[in-house]
Amino acid sequence: MQLSRRSFFKFMGAAGASAAARPSTALAWESKAPPDPYGCLVDLTRCVGCRKCEEACAGVNKLPPPERPDCQCTIFEKKRRPDAKAYTVVNRYFTGKIDGFHNPSPTFAKVQCMHCQDPACVSACIVGALTKDETGAVRYDVNKCIGCRYCMVACPFEIPAYEYFDPITPRVMKCTFCYERISKEGGLPGCAAICPTEALTFGKRKTLLKVAKKRLKENPGRYINHIYGETEVGGTSWIYLSEVPFDKVNLPVLPDKPSPKLSETIQHSLFSYLWSPLALFGVLGIFMYGSNKSAEKKKETAKEKGGPDA
Ligand code: SF4
Ligand code: SF4
Ligand code: SF4
Repeated sequence: MQLSRRSFFKFMGAAGASAAARPSTALAWESKAPPDPYGCLVDLTRCVGCRKCEEACAGVNKLPPPERPDCQCTIFEKKRRPDAKAYTVVNRYFTGKIDGFHNPSPTFAKVQCMHCQDPACVSACIVGALTKDETGAVRYDVNKCIGCRYCMVACPFEIPAYEYFDPITPRVMKCTFCYERISKEGGLPGCAAICPTEALTFGKRKTLLKVAKKRLKENPGRYINHIYGETEVGGTSWIYLSEVPFDKVNLPVLPDKPSPKLSETIQHSLFSYLWSPLALFGVLGIFMYGSNKSAEKKKETAKEKGGPDA
């Protein structure tokens, strides 16, 4: 059986629709978003694709340094995702934009955990290994993690990665928002501190939304009129401005409704129907099994073709 994260969300959506028939008391859901979190504004019109943010992130978080071939173009030929050895990556997209010399002009987009206001990963974690902090950071406690990887299934941005290569003490890996740095007065995340073009602005999320709105107002031709992350999945701590539609730089089109609202409503409804929690997590387990099988199959196919592991 091959199940994608999207098919999982379809399943959850169907379950949610049936849950909607339940009395409203069973559907009560409250946002647990912190009132005044930090955030980071990513302005794609300022990003030049230098990848210094990747280097700084690796340094701060003691990850292997990112690959630095002689020509950046070989890196940008493939679309990369954050993984267990890189919390953030920058990709290049050609979206039809033309520069002053009539050449195709690229848009670069940094990707990392969005530190959602109401994170689906936190809601999916049954042992509290992931928590949303007052600073806005979604934090991970390896000592509580049981390796179920439901967070990976739940994340609408497909961010958490798993250390499959470590059979003894594998961890879930994702951007930490450089918590140790930002929780100190004046501290900046490694990526935002190094960015030479001010494509990354760190600050209080409320202030950043004002900054973003001001840029939109003062430069109507420069940006599309949308702040990505202002409302998507209930809002995210990392927000984006762009001159090209966000789906063209692989930022998914998502509803405004927070994902935990759906998943927690479904859990409450299932429990109120006297479903066993084990049954619910059994369903999630089947989904994970399908996902893992699919990943293994991709790896085998890649090996048969003589390429790197998927
Ligand atoms: S350091 Fe700044 S300009 Fe360079 S790739 Fe990262 S976000 Fe873009
Ligand atoms: S906030 Fe820290 S961990 Fe997250 S991408 Fe930036 S440097 Fe990496
Ligand atoms: S982007 Fe994914 S991993 Fe990050 S906080 Fe949101 S749900 Fe969790």
